Amino acid sequence: MSQDIVLCEQCDAVHRWRPLASSEVARCRRCGAVIARGHRLSVSGLLALTVAAGVMLAVAVSTPVMTLQLRGDESAAGQAGSASRGFSTSISTIRTGGPSG
Ligand SMILES: [Zn+2]
Repeated sequence: MSQDIVLCEQCDAVHRWRPLASSEVARCRRCGAVIARGHRLSVSGLLALTVAAGVMLAVAVSTPVMTLQLRGDESAAGQAGSASRGFSTSISTIRTGGPSG
């Protein structure tokens, strides 16, 4: 019969391990240090959060970040387009209205 044990990182006390509920905190009986915390999200909650983050990433990458209009010409750049243009365009083409000299 195997028994799960856990050691306190602060005082090396040995404790029996059991799975924790979402709001539980395991503390060392000797020194009171926090040994572990229960997971706040279940596996399905983590999966839903991951899928939502993937959808948000897809929207962020496909949506233009900046749109420029000049004399009827319009140019839009998204995340990927901005990065590729930044590498392909020389920085000397960008001029600011600072003092000349
Ligand atoms: Zn301890």
